[in-house]
Amino acid sequence: TDGISTTEEIDGFNLVVNALQLNDIKEIYGVVGIPITDLARLAQEKGIRFFGFRHETPAGQAAAISGFLNQWPGVCLTVSAPGFLNGMVALANATTNGFPMILISGSSDRAIVDLQKGDYEELDQMQAAKPFAKAAYRIERVEDIGIGIARAIRAAMSGRPGGVYLDLPAAVLPATMPADAGAASLIKVIDAAPALIPSPIAIQRALDVLAAAKRPLVILGKGGAYARIEDDIRAFLEETNIPFLPMSMAKGLVPDDHPLAASSARSLVLAQADVVMLVGARLNWLLGHGKPPQWAADSKLIQLDVDPVEFDSNRRVDAPVAGDLASSVAALRAGLATTPVTAPADWLGSIEAHKAKNTEKMAARLAANPSPMSFYSSIGAVSEVLAEHPDVILVSEGANTLDTGRNLISQSLPRHRVDSGTWGVMGIGMGFSIAAAATQNKPVVALEGDSAFGFSGMEIETICRYQLPVAVVVLNNGGIYRGDDVNRSGGTDPGPTLLSSSARYDKMIEAFGGKGYYVETPEEMRSALREAIASGKPALINAVIDAHVGTESGHIQKLNPTAAKK
Ligand code: ADP
Ligand code: MG
Repeated sequence: TDGISTTEEIDGFNLVVNALQLNDIKEIYGVVGIPITDLARLAQEKGIRFFGFRHETPAGQAAAISGFLNQWPGVCLTVSAPGFLNGMVALANATTNGFPMILISGSSDRAIVDLQKGDYEELDQMQAAKPFAKAAYRIERVEDIGIGIARAIRAAMSGRPGGVYLDLPAAVLPATMPADAGAASLIKVIDAAPALIPSPIAIQRALDVLAAAKRPLVILGKGGAYARIEDDIRAFLEETNIPFLPMSMAKGLVPDDHPLAASSARSLVLAQADVVMLVGARLNWLLGHGKPPQWAADSKLIQLDVDPVEFDSNRRVDAPVAGDLASSVAALRAGLATTPVTAPADWLGSIEAHKAKNTEKMAARLAANPSPMSFYSSIGAVSEVLAEHPDVILVSEGANTLDTGRNLISQSLPRHRVDSGTWGVMGIGMGFSIAAAATQNKPVVALEGDSAFGFSGMEIETICRYQLPVAVVVLNNGGIYRGDDVNRSGGTDPGPTLLSSSARYDKMIEAFGGKGYYVETPEEMRSALREAIASGKPALINAVIDAHVGTESGHIQKLNPTAAKK
């Protein structure tokens, strides 16, 4: 050429959006502000759906659960320092649960931040993110945007999935480079979660342990739901007749009403199994660390996991199988041809008998119709309506609400229940609901304790603004745990566990244009929930339940230390 540049330029804003779109990112959840407002605008203009939230934590939770539901990273976008830190709660939760997620936050001027000269929202975000993220990266040059996004996707997706932090200093966004070089710098990630084939020796060892079992049990975890192993694991169970227990987010991987489901004999099977095979489930607090009194001390363990570091984390694992679950379960199934496995009939018989007894007890409990409603009668009504709508995605959090709902509500489809997860965290409700509604094209029901709802309740405005098909059910007993505590110190303030039981959460949603329901009986609950689901529109059912029902800390009272002096 004649030396006069005629090359078109492209800036960082456009490159970030192009890189995300090249990698099939279709939604962004976030809250705008300096320096990422125009990034969100541009993303929306180019066809990415931007969900603008009221707070970054629920936006991040939406991205996290989108990662779980879609097997592809969910993206959250925040401003610097405080916005970033709010998003970190969700990023840490994603990492803990093994959900692929990318938190992208704008950040302040590096030269000012690094010498702590005091910038607007100054924080060394990448360093702050590291202990809570699977990986943390910073893009410092416009020509590195493609690499930065590709590395974030790979880190989020490969091996055990997790949360990745991507730092975007403000200066990178308006920086420019030649458009053709910019386009060439972008990377479409190929095979983001490469198959990890288990070793044939490990598979044979696992089959040998299973074949010798007298009382085998399979525990299905949310790793299996994430890995989408529903067809093969169901076939494997049916071919071997091994009973199974699903962890809460693995419910529906094999239907809860399957004859081999042992949920209603949970204590019995955990205590009596002589071989337990963990399939994408960890031996953490949710499983009593695999130890007595819940478990038999001498049971043998088989564990299928993508992360070999997980083995022996709480107990010896006799047959570890490292590999991606789809490959591992397929290999186990194939191995049955030469190493047949059949669960003994007497084991299944004793489980059957126990299930029948417990089902009878539960039926009696559900037959009671107290006024005001209890957790059982209110959630029983919810479960009846949900049985009519197996395609509903159920979101749940709370203490007693979560625990009772997990027992009472059956799932027949995989990835149709998402909840407080590994941390037992509160505050996931509205964010999870928004992402489920946004990406699954199905009705969503959020079953919430009144306390749990409060952590993300303002997002019902977001639900109404986007007209999402979410029905929120708030079980209102006016308290964290129970609504009948007293102020034990004698002052005039309410006790620290008390909330307002007269709170009209149903009127909140009406203020934003949604439909509110106030219900006091199971009949009213059923009819309100039926109508709400059928409407496909935002709704909130404020269900008044007895302030005296529920137990402190729900089903995990043993984890709650209490003061010596009452
Ligand atoms: P739950 O709470 O349902 O028991 P956890 O989150 O404790 O489930 O455990 C899930 C396990 O699944 C984790 O250890 C994780 O490494 C594993 N996992 C996740 N995805 C895969 C996959 N694609 N293949 C194999 N293992 C996986
Ligand atoms: Mg409550």
